[in-house]
Amino acid sequence: MRILLVEDDAMIGEATSIALKDAAYAVDWVRDGATAGKVLQNGEHQAVLLDLGLPGRDGLEVLRRLRQAGNAVPVLVITARDGVDDRIKGLDFGADDYLVKPFAVDELLARLRAIIRRQGGHAAPLLSNGKLSLDPASHEARCGEVVERLSAREFSLLHALLLRPGAILTRDELEERIYGWNEEVESNVIDVLIHGLRRKLGAAIIKNVRGAGWMVDKSA
Ligand code: CA
Repeated sequence: MRILLVEDDAMIGEATSIALKDAAYAVDWVRDGATAGKVLQNGEHQAVLLDLGLPGRDGLEVLRRLRQAGNAVPVLVITARDGVDDRIKGLDFGADDYLVKPFAVDELLARLRAIIRRQGGHAAPLLSNGKLSLDPASHEARCGEVVERLSAREFSLLHALLLRPGAILTRDELEERIYGWNEEVESNVIDVLIHGLRRKLGAAIIKNVRGAGWMVDKSA
């Protein structure tokens, strides 16, 4: 799961980016609205944390243009402006939720999980498919009677597949969900993670589609 953080404050940006990485997200951080607008056209992020007070193009304008372009990526607005007007404007411009600074990291993570799962069409906190289920809060996976705590990257990979059962994700697409821009992709990391997941949860949970990628079967 890859997040775009748009924040011009160095301290808040640094702290937020560390908290997100600790919670198993891949994070890309930009510090101004124009760059955010450009990056968001690539569609490589599954959610956006958007500060409103930004140099140049402000957050509301970034949001307005994003929605005008038909981009439905979930956006959580983070802002120091606690004025009711800004919050209403943010929501009217297409934000999915907002947080007022200073915020508790746990609340940020919970709100982020909520907007991501609503985007995937899942109202319930657990992602499940057949006998397999995944808890985005605890990173626990259950398959029948087996319950396992997953590593950050195992979680990210299984989460990406479980958001769209039946869809094949390629090696590049999986790597993109797990790594941010500045991180070097380790060779054969996807194979290692899939091997670990199968060992923990059973060989049948992830299907390899030869030459194409991997998927979890859509349960009937
Ligand atoms: Ca700011």
